[in-house]
Amino acid sequence: MGLSEFELINRYFNSDDERLQRSELVLGIGDDAALLAPKPGHELVVAVDTLVSGVHFPADAGADDIGYRSLAVNLSDLAAMGAEPACFTLAITLPESNSEWLEGFSRGLFEMAKQHRVPLVGGDTTKGPLTISIQVLGYVPCGQALRRDGAQPGDLIYVSGYLGDAAAGLALANAQGTAPAYLQQRFLRPEPRLEAGLALRQFAHAAIDISDGLLADIGHIAERSGLSAAIELDKLPLSDALSSAFSQQQAQQFALCGGDDYELCFCSAPEHAEQLAAIAEQLKLPLTCIGQMREGAGVQLYDATGKRLETKDSMGYQHF
Ligand code: ADP
Ligand code: MG
Repeated sequence: MGLSEFELINRYFNSDDERLQRSELVLGIGDDAALLAPKPGHELVVAVDTLVSGVHFPADAGADDIGYRSLAVNLSDLAAMGAEPACFTLAITLPESNSEWLEGFSRGLFEMAKQHRVPLVGGDTTKGPLTISIQVLGYVPCGQALRRDGAQPGDLIYVSGYLGDAAAGLALANAQGTAPAYLQQRFLRPEPRLEAGLALRQFAHAAIDISDGLLADIGHIAERSGLSAAIELDKLPLSDALSSAFSQQQAQQFALCGGDDYELCFCSAPEHAEQLAAIAEQLKLPLTCIGQMREGAGVQLYDATGKRLETKDSMGYQHF
């Protein structure tokens, strides 16, 4: 059954759930544009990510997972800036108006939206190959954003959570049609580390979310900060699920180069180690020190004995 564009927007994208009410939202869906009253003393943080079917998620992925993940990966960019989310817009291109698919997509999308109290305030709906563009808006107190260019020599490099799970889950699903549930969930339903991002504002000099793989993403911090990053391979946090599905070497390779974990990688002065341990405890989220920023350029990998390892074929996901 085909719905008109208007019916479709109203039914699947216009929610009046009370968890999505926010005082700064003056006008949401239904006019030519949304109206927001920005919070005084804050900077507006804006990010957009497009997910193309068959490229950023498997074409046969469940509609709810696609909805959930599309918003999660965008909120992850706000987390990496230390921003508090305010709202989002959705530009969706659909091959057809399929009620069952739209219901699932909307359910997954709003599950993530309600978890973090981010209302959908507008968008655009068009026909064509399935493509989802989400723009997120958020706030950060003036001057306090976690940028990529703020790392200092001597800063310790940390990551949240576990690395490599999402890429391993995807690789297993592609190779054998199935993967351990935890690994698959880590790919399909990443958790944006918004609370960690907020807590780290006080303690981190620089941050990024890991979407293209640790080596590629810490490489961005190193480059923007004019420094080098020294990573100790044996310190990478690996989940039990990843370690039991793969050899140590394969697991470490996923952790270094696999994208899609959406964990945070950040740089913090050594004297904050105790405060970071307290944040980890409070959020029930491991924050693991994996290396140190130094003078120089690029990313260097070391084993536990301090021997330099090769990183040349360890690049993150490249789109082109
Ligand atoms: P216009 O033609 O003025 O751009 P549209 O007819 O495209 O307006 O959209 C009507 C209203 O519905 C607008 O408020 C728009 O932001 C909203 N909207 C359209 N598509 C979506 C969507 N996929 N999700 C949320 N809001 C949407
Ligand atoms: Mg329009």
